[in-house]
Formats: sequence, structure tokens, C-alpha cells
Amino acid sequence: MNFPFDDAPNTAAITCCHIMNQNMPILHVSHDEEDGMWQFLCGRSHDTNEGRIISLHGIYVHDPSVAQLADLPCGYSADRQDITAAWNIQKD
Ligand SMILES: [Zn+2]
Repeated sequence: MNFPFDDAPNTAAITCCHIMNQNMPILHVSHDEEDGMWQFLCGRSHDTNEGRIISLHGIYVHDPSVAQLADLPCGYSADRQDITAAWNIQKD
């Protein structure tokens, strides 16, 4: 398997119920400065009960286009307007 991330495939990441249960596109990705946690979110605002834990491998299988962000450094986030748009990366 050619896994694009430096983190192990079973690394826990955060996503949301919209992506998992409603098949919404991933439009916001962040890589946390302090703990290195990846978040893959739909771009809406969220209540805490809408968060879901997924493995990095699981989110990659769900949407292989996240491979474009595999080298996103800690402390950065990326947004896109829709699933066909380019990622816009900024430092948090
Ligand atoms: Zn969501």
C-alpha cells in the first residue's frame, strides 16, 4: 500500500457526522500545532457531539484526494470551496 501520510495508517483523526453519515465533502482540513491531530471536516460549524474519530487510513479511503494534503505541516489548515477546487493552505 502506498500510504501518502508520514503518520501511521491507524493514527486517530477527527472528522464529523456530516462526512461519515451524510457523505458531505471534506472542505476543511487542519493539522494541529500542539498535538499533531488531523481534522477532516465539512466546513460547517459543529457541536461536540457531531465529532467522529476515524483512522487516517479510513479518511484516505473515504476521500483519496486528502493525499494532496499529506505534507501539510503542524499548525496549518487548508480549505476548499468544493470538491473540485484547489486547496487554499494557511498558517493557523
Ligand atoms: Zn460536519
